Amino acid sequence: MRKDPHQRAASELARRCVRCDKTFRPEAPEWVCVSCGGNLDVLYDYDELRRWWSKASLAADTTRSMWRYDAILPRGLIDHMPTLQTGWTPLYHAPQLGSELGVTKIELKDDGRNPTGSLKDRASAMAVAHAISLGQRVLACASTGNAASALAGMCANAGLTSVIFVPEKTPSGKLAQIIAFGSYLVRVEGSYDQAFDLAMAACSRFGWYNRNTGINPYLSEGKKTVAFEIAEQLGWEAPDWVLVPVGDGNIIASVGKGFEELLHIGFIERLPRLVAVQSEGSSAIVDALLGDGVVRPVEVTTLADSIAVGKPRDPDRALRAVRQSSGLGVKVRDSEILEAQSLLASKEGVFVEPSAAASLAGLVRLAAAGDIARDDRVVLLLTGNGLKDTDSVLDRAQLPAPIPASMESLERRLAEDPLGDHSSGIGA
Ligand SMILES: *Cc1c(COP(=O)(O)O)cnc(C)c1O
Ligand SMILES: [Zn+2]
Repeated sequence: MRKDPHQRAASELARRCVRCDKTFRPEAPEWVCVSCGGNLDVLYDYDELRRWWSKASLAADTTRSMWRYDAILPRGLIDHMPTLQTGWTPLYHAPQLGSELGVTKIELKDDGRNPTGSLKDRASAMAVAHAISLGQRVLACASTGNAASALAGMCANAGLTSVIFVPEKTPSGKLAQIIAFGSYLVRVEGSYDQAFDLAMAACSRFGWYNRNTGINPYLSEGKKTVAFEIAEQLGWEAPDWVLVPVGDGNIIASVGKGFEELLHIGFIERLPRLVAVQSEGSSAIVDALLGDGVVRPVEVTTLADSIAVGKPRDPDRALRAVRQSSGLGVKVRDSEILEAQSLLASKEGVFVEPSAAASLAGLVRLAAAGDIARDDRVVLLLTGNGLKDTDSVLDRAQLPAPIPASMESLERRLAEDPLGDHSSGIGA
């Protein structure tokens, strides 16, 4: 998996505050702005990069992971990458879903195919490589579940220790992963917001590497690779829309950064419009987009656990990404999220967790409202695998009663309940 030694990487020029534009030298210790507390963007020497990096050199690269883009990732981290294959997930055309919705060009970016089953693997792989480069061996994070299982898995792979802070209500699939990977698990009474604050305090007290979302600028460098992949998989033709489920706002900010970097170095000619999709029960960022632009904390009530965030940790970069792309914000009900989860699985065979299905629920709304047109090319970012939270399906399903193992019984069952319309096994 190692690359040719002649491969180069862009120089990191600075980190820049999203709020006040203050810049920090690459070797400066700050991860958030000391003046205003804003989160930082990692910036590279794009002019230098343009001189030697091209679509053709990339086409000749046989790396099939996020590290294929190491030219535009923090220099040297590829040498410390975990060996779990992260990124280069499939982009599927979805014609059956398309005819159902009357939108002909839907593409599914299936990031549930990552090693621990979510897009968070991209960030955690980067965090592990970064921690190793700094000589740190204990990494901590707060998480609704996926960042935790991703960090746990990547640390196990690299022989490092992970300390994981999760809220009480984390789905059992994600807990099982964290336990199996051998993390030090701290279950915190309350929600993700409380777990986050405790993890922050613990990192500064014990000197652990901090993989908390928003404040660690390098996580975004991992997550932005999903935008590079979408663009390359579409032949460097930017789609019209990318729909993203949003909690903290770090994923959508990273997707936005990725496309903007591609535009800047001339690999694409325009930005796709980004759509932030949130649950009505956790909508701080979309409320700001639809309202006065100010992000205010909200009380969280949603079963989409990965986007259940009362106080978003990367709000400014998220709003910027949506606005710079002339994007939109949309809120959906939990019932629409669950319907979208069933629709996606039954029409295309792609099973995602509820939070990931929010992107499809957003498309259903925007297509019905006429905001997204029939021939627009639409990418749904599918951020997490359905096997992480099987209860979200089983709790709604009516399991058929068992039958005796005889042909006679089977024939009776088929007479009572014909094959007909079993497009989704989930009862009304
Ligand atoms: C983390 C996560 C999100 C939301 O990402 P944010 O950066 O918190 O906005 C969406 N879906 C899944 C499956 C996730 O794990
Ligand atoms: Zn600042």
